Amino acid sequence: MAAQETVDQKYVYDFSEGNKDLKDLLGGKGANLAEMTNLGLPVPPGFTITTEACQAYLATGREPDGLAGQIEAHLESLERAMGKRLGDPQDPLLVSVRSGAKFSMPGMMETVLNVGLNDQSVVGLSAQAGGNDRFAWDSYRRLIQMFGKTVCEVPGEEFEQALDKAKSARGTTNDLDLDADDLRGLVEAYKKIFLKHTGREFPQQPREQLDLAIRAVFESWNAERAVLYRRQERIPADLGTAVNVVTMVFGNLGPDSGTGVAFTRDPASGAQGIYGDYLANAQGEDVVAGIRNTVPLQELEQLDKASYDELLGIMARLEEHYRDLCDIEFTIERGKLWMLQTRVGKRTAAAAFVIAGQLVDEGLIDLDEALHRVNGAQLAQLMFPRFQLDHEFHPVATGIGASPGAASGTVVFTSARAVELAAEGKSVILVRRETNPDDLNGMIAAKGILTSRGGKTSHAAVVARGMGKTCVSGADEIDVNVPAKRFTVAGQTVNEGDVVSIDGTTGKVYLGEVPVMPSEVVQYFEGSLDPEHIDNALVRAVHRIMTHADGKRRLAVRTNADTGADAARARRFGAEGIGLCRTEHMFLGDRRELVERLILARAEGEREAALAALLPLQRADFEEIFREMDGLPVTVRLIDPPLHEFLPPLEQLAVNVAVAQERGEDVAKEEALLAAVRRMHEENPMLGLRGVRLGLVIPGLFAMQVRAIAEAAVTCARGGGVAKPEIMVPLVGAVQELETVRAEAEKIIAEVVGDSGVEVLIGTMIEVPRAALTAGQIAEAAEFFSFGTNDLTQMGWGFSRDDVEGAFFWRYLELGIFGISPFESIDRDGVGRLVRIAAEEGRAARPGLKLGVCGEHGGDPDSVHFFHEVGLDYVSCSPFRVPVARLEAGRAVVETGGSDSR
Ligand code: ADP
Ligand code: MG
Ligand code: MG
Repeated sequence: MAAQETVDQKYVYDFSEGNKDLKDLLGGKGANLAEMTNLGLPVPPGFTITTEACQAYLATGREPDGLAGQIEAHLESLERAMGKRLGDPQDPLLVSVRSGAKFSMPGMMETVLNVGLNDQSVVGLSAQAGGNDRFAWDSYRRLIQMFGKTVCEVPGEEFEQALDKAKSARGTTNDLDLDADDLRGLVEAYKKIFLKHTGREFPQQPREQLDLAIRAVFESWNAERAVLYRRQERIPADLGTAVNVVTMVFGNLGPDSGTGVAFTRDPASGAQGIYGDYLANAQGEDVVAGIRNTVPLQELEQLDKASYDELLGIMARLEEHYRDLCDIEFTIERGKLWMLQTRVGKRTAAAAFVIAGQLVDEGLIDLDEALHRVNGAQLAQLMFPRFQLDHEFHPVATGIGASPGAASGTVVFTSARAVELAAEGKSVILVRRETNPDDLNGMIAAKGILTSRGGKTSHAAVVARGMGKTCVSGADEIDVNVPAKRFTVAGQTVNEGDVVSIDGTTGKVYLGEVPVMPSEVVQYFEGSLDPEHIDNALVRAVHRIMTHADGKRRLAVRTNADTGADAARARRFGAEGIGLCRTEHMFLGDRRELVERLILARAEGEREAALAALLPLQRADFEEIFREMDGLPVTVRLIDPPLHEFLPPLEQLAVNVAVAQERGEDVAKEEALLAAVRRMHEENPMLGLRGVRLGLVIPGLFAMQVRAIAEAAVTCARGGGVAKPEIMVPLVGAVQELETVRAEAEKIIAEVVGDSGVEVLIGTMIEVPRAALTAGQIAEAAEFFSFGTNDLTQMGWGFSRDDVEGAFFWRYLELGIFGISPFESIDRDGVGRLVRIAAEEGRAARPGLKLGVCGEHGGDPDSVHFFHEVGLDYVSCSPFRVPVARLEAGRAVVETGGSDSR
């Protein structure tokens, strides 16, 4: 998305010129300010400088040609409309300069309020406000503070300290107790701080203030914390931010003024109602920063009923217009309500489902749209366990359930300590009075976040919700002392290193570690909660949307399961078969002994004896799985890992041999094993003697497995069941390998199956790039393909997962070589292309070829969409991911505009 500069490019849009669909160009805030303006809502007039201007600035380091002139023109028309001039000494127009990118990045970028104030206009402002000196000087000190911090990088603490000093000189902790003289003095102090750090006086030219602030917003796009946040949220790095220049309205004019934030429904639970915070006699940034404690929005009804009613009306209107939960920033200036921001609000996973269900009930959206509005990541979150609170646990404090989940961990008070302990593998709870963007690293590292101040819209709350991290905010019974590394609550002291538990749904805080219980959504999937008969909005919404997804999806969803128990659970979760049953575990435990005998066999008879002993054990395993999956297909993978993986490690054997020799014991067997391990050692086991290669080298091994599968299927059939085995040969790279295995297998199957009616398919995994590229040939010998996308990724990229994930993936993510690890989400361009080629060429050679995927990607939302696009028949994933895959397979149909249902 390189910035294109053309001579007469339009870089500035009046609010009346934009609309909500122009987020790419105007950013979310600008597009929605325009939308509200055009709806006729009370928005202070202003204009938006486009993201393209920002991109051009960031690419070249200077404002693009034409931008200055366009700003001038829009400023002039704004001044005409308002009948004031920017910074006019008698009657100044003041503006805010606000960042606003396509995706909201709460608190990440910069905003400067009160631009246009200087030593003269502060006097004019006071006069215009009826001689309200306090207000004028409060506004001026805010400008110097915000401008200094965000535009000129003056350390914010110095301003904070000066403010604290002014307050303690007054003997107060409330900024409202400062009078005009105090604030005038504070302005002087701030100016000195500004001069000390920048080497210049605070700029008195209004237009210079404006230009510098705009430039600072552009540059804030690349501030470290913004870069970090984008990476965490997977927001592309090249979008740039728009800049909104908005006429100031004042919530700090006195008790009949104020500012607040609101949600049209509860963003935590989705419940209908009025949710918000209000702060009288304050400017907007005070609410977010948690400077003073806010009151619930409902109290505005007593303070200013007219504004309250108007606000409720606007909220209802916005919900209907956006057909979704909206969040809102507003300011009341002497009884006049102004809308400063709206957007479709962030919400928790539970709220996403509940709200989607409600909006369907209200007739605002249909079920396809509801399906589109939830996602697999949210569903996965809802499948986490919650606290079990029946007995001795009593909360020591109750804050606001800002982001749900149940988290226990060691208390830490700084971001750095959180990162440190998390790196040691500890669960930590980051405890702060409130968080700010500098705490981001600690928040990422922490299991949960607990703050003593701030509401549902505080920085901690918003950021934690975005990360899907448990957060309790505003637990004001807690007294946090960061320097002393402790907090006190209910007469008790909690030190760094102690354990606490926080419930992000209820807002409750417990001392010690609280046990957890399973999620209701999981209980629903397991069949123990009946959605038709319980009063649980979440379970009902999940049920309704899942049912719709199942009706829509074309992809079948199977599970990866190696045992009857896993198979049974996955089936309850909706699995429609097994896509990958590994047989490795059937060689473990007390069966190792037999594998050792197999490996050490010198005469044919010994090997056959070992295999004959394994046969009934394997058969019993398969019988159990076929029983659980009665009527559904079960793909069994023949043994895949190198055999030496079943032997003890070299060092351990060497020690055993030495010790036994020392004692004079008989070491013949150990020595033979040791020799075998030495002989079988591989430099690159991943690329060694494994998969089909084993089957071709060790006589009778695959034959035994094939026989066990076929016999188990026949036993099932004879018992009245329906077994549908699909034998999968791993690691095939050439059709000849598969043909050789198939020839032997077919003979055994024919012999075992007889007239039992059992049908056994034979197919292969596609996990070696050569197999993908010769899929047309391989399909001649395969009734199905199952893409082993883990190995295909490893071999496609030429790296082994265990070696690389810790070693350099962070760097690749940092450099943008990966947007996301290719093991988490399929690499569409490379590995995905191999899948596509194999699917197309395989189907061309054999039209009925069954296609599936059995790597972990089968449960990854984005990958599921890809497999849908490629036209696979099914995905297979771990049991817990089955619901996620079902949901996403339905969403894939809705999002590609397909109406096809099975
Ligand atoms: P953020 O994206 O961090 O919320 P905003 O640009 O929305 O930043 O502004 C920060 C605060 O300043 C908000 O509370 C907002 O309502 C307030 N604000 C912004 N512009 C104005 C304005 N023109 N008049 C009054 N308050 C404003
Ligand atoms: Mg805002
Ligand atoms: Mg493999």
